[in-house]
Amino acid sequence: MATAAPPACLGKAAPSPSAPLYDTMVIVKVGKQKQEFFAHKGLICHYSTYFRAAFQGQFQEGITGVVELAKDSVEFFKIFFGWMYTGRLFEPPSEPGKIPLESTLLAKIYVFGDARGIPDLKNAAIDALFNRISYEWSLPTLIIPYVYANTLQSSPLRRFVVDMVVCGTYESEGFRDPIYKDNFTTDYLRDLAVELYDLKGARPRMSQEQWRNRDRCQYHDHSNAPAAETT
Ligand SMILES: [Zn+2]
Repeated sequence: MATAAPPACLGKAAPSPSAPLYDTMVIVKVGKQKQEFFAHKGLICHYSTYFRAAFQGQFQEGITGVVELAKDSVEFFKIFFGWMYTGRLFEPPSEPGKIPLESTLLAKIYVFGDARGIPDLKNAAIDALFNRISYEWSLPTLIIPYVYANTLQSSPLRRFVVDMVVCGTYESEGFRDPIYKDNFTTDYLRDLAVELYDLKGARPRMSQEQWRNRDRCQYHDHSNAPAAETT
């Protein structure tokens, strides 16, 4: 079956890291166990505003070339680290279209990217979440309390989990089952109510195919793209 290609992403027009970014090595110590990751300073600063401020600023980290992230998860940092060097969040799955990372883990990667100022990682995580939902055509409601506890009101990830229910024709796991009612937080239900109110009954129910071909740029953060690409 022929399918239309999803709309192109402006962020993809951003240049890949150039050779000079593979320069001095810095160290990031992660978690309580202070696991050490050695990274190219130019590369990690290219992707992350947080590490740019730490390693290129006047603080101690800029002098020593060592940053400690005691409260961060080694698991998420490993995924970020692998993505930074390969451009991939995971190895290509054996089954085309299947995303091997759970939805909640993808949301956690997004939140990590948000906290550490890594817009391209956030975009990769939300694209993978988009693709996972396009493939599975369901959204575990457990993702909702996590997203609402760890993002700001304006977060594209919040819009995403609202839109998925507003636009989707799929049956969300447990959407009608009282056993999952605690997953629907007050703020989420408020956002859902506002969205449905604004639509005035014109609920844009989409097929799985229509959802798959939506413009996913509306959930992206292009702040790391060159100025010419964002205007
Ligand atoms: Zn985009």
